[in-house]
Amino acid sequence: MPIDPTQPYDDDNIFAKILRGEIPSTRIYEDEWAYAFPDINPQAKLHILVIPKGKYVSWDDFSARASAEEIAGFVRAVGHIAREHGLVEPGYRLLANVGAHGGQEVPHLHVHLFGGQPLGRMIA
Ligand code: AMP
Repeated sequence: MPIDPTQPYDDDNIFAKILRGEIPSTRIYEDEWAYAFPDINPQAKLHILVIPKGKYVSWDDFSARASAEEIAGFVRAVGHIAREHGLVEPGYRLLANVGAHGGQEVPHLHVHLFGGQPLGRMIA
C-alpha cells in the first residue's frame, strides 16, 4: 500500500526500526547523516537503500524541512556510496518514490541506488 506523504512522521515505520537496530540490516555505509543497506527485494544486481538519519517522511518533507547540513550530508553520502562501489564510470540510477503516484511504501525518505548492469528505460 502506498503511503500518504502528507502524514506526520511515524516512529514505528520499518526504516526507523532499522535505524534503531530493532530490525536487522546489513550496514553498507553509515555516517552522521545517512545509513545505507541492501534492499531486501533487489531490482538490479546492486540495489542499495540510502536513508537520512533524521525523521523525514519523504523527499518532499526532507527538501522542505531538513537543514542545509543534513541535505548536504545526505547528498554527499549517496555520491560517496556510488563512488565506493565503482559505479561512476559504468553509471548508475537514483530513485526516490514519493506518495501514491511514486509508489512509496515506507514512510521514511529513502533513495534507491541501482547499478551493476545496464538499467534500461527510465520508466517501464
Ligand atoms: P518504496 O516503494 O520506494 O517505498 O521502496 C521500499 C523498499 O524498501 C522496497 O524496495 C522494499 O524491498 C524495501 N524494504 C522493505 N523492507 C525492507 C527491509 N527490512 N530491509 C531492506 N529493504 C526493505
